[in-house]
Amino acid sequence: MSTATSTPTLEIRPSDHAASAEERARKMTNPGFGRMFTDHMVVIPYKEGEGWGRGELKAYGPLAMDPASSVLHYGQAIFEGFKAYAQKDGGVATFRPEANARRFQASARRLAMPELPEALFLEAAYALIRQDRAWIPGAIGESLYLRPLMIATEAALGVRPSNEYLFLLIASPSGAYFAQGVKPVTVWISEDYVRAAPGGTGFAKCAGNYAASLVAQRQAKGEGCDQVVWLDAIHRKYIEEMGGMNIFFVYQEKGETVVVTPELTGSLLPGVTRDSLLQLAKDQGFRAEERKISTDEWEAALKEGRMTEAFACGTAAVITPIGRVKSRKGDWLVNGGETGPVAAKLRQVLLDLQHGAAPDPHGWMHRVI
Ligand SMILES: *Cc1c(COP(=O)(O)O)cnc(C)c1O
Repeated sequence: MSTATSTPTLEIRPSDHAASAEERARKMTNPGFGRMFTDHMVVIPYKEGEGWGRGELKAYGPLAMDPASSVLHYGQAIFEGFKAYAQKDGGVATFRPEANARRFQASARRLAMPELPEALFLEAAYALIRQDRAWIPGAIGESLYLRPLMIATEAALGVRPSNEYLFLLIASPSGAYFAQGVKPVTVWISEDYVRAAPGGTGFAKCAGNYAASLVAQRQAKGEGCDQVVWLDAIHRKYIEEMGGMNIFFVYQEKGETVVVTPELTGSLLPGVTRDSLLQLAKDQGFRAEERKISTDEWEAALKEGRMTEAFACGTAAVITPIGRVKSRKGDWLVNGGETGPVAAKLRQVLLDLQHGAAPDPHGWMHRVI
């Protein structure tokens, strides 16, 4: 672990009411996603003019907040998500956490919030993982989900960047993200709502993006779909993402497997999983492309049999196949509604790597324990 000497270190104050081994075991039997939290959390305050203050690792619990705190009014709130994985040899490692630290800084810049130094982000994560290591489930596909976040805490109603912030880190033992496992989902192409527009906050992991997406997600549910597919804001025709995940398409072209994902235009969230899969696809001998893809192309390529699979990807759910696409214009099946071999292969390759069951040629795993 590299920690700059100028970085203030965390004060470790273990909880005096940590869960008993029995209680923990009961909670971890079927953790689901994001429903249980570990015994501790990290809190680091920031004040304009003073910088980042002394951080603490302490008992998980509620925050006391002034109702005038600016996050509650103007929404300066960003977050991250990454995982710690039990390794085959009994140790624990995280996957590309420095990429999350840097994206957290990029999100902070877009929301006019202070940047947390990468070393402090990693120190907080490693301290919490070590403290709460008993909460890390062991099976492949299970993990400890780490959720860093930052909120504006100054009590002031003037519309301007807050002068005070709180960085928080909580952790949640997680099983499979989607209750039904890796069964393909049905998606609804959203024509009424957009997630992000050029010049907006699409590339930032901010709470407001999610708030704005929920009504579309609800509409998708109403149409009998599991997830919403977002189109670009200008032409309303280029595919951007699926819900809170990036999206991939698999083509068969002249005997070659081609994996295509929409290019990063500024309104897409640059996923760490997306970036990793582009590399892993090449490692598998597939061609990988980042480019625009329209809904017309999606439909035509399926009809002509050139596109054989589509799937979404993200830290929480890894890879989720798309089995069926619905919109006002129609309804198409992808790969007969089944999980395809490329999605299954990439999912396995990524999970094996993350759990230390396969070599790590790109140096992505960071050993914590
Ligand atoms: C977090 C997120 C993703 C996936 O990013 P990963 O780094 O792969 O977890 C994709 N899209 C949106 C909108 C997100 O918020």
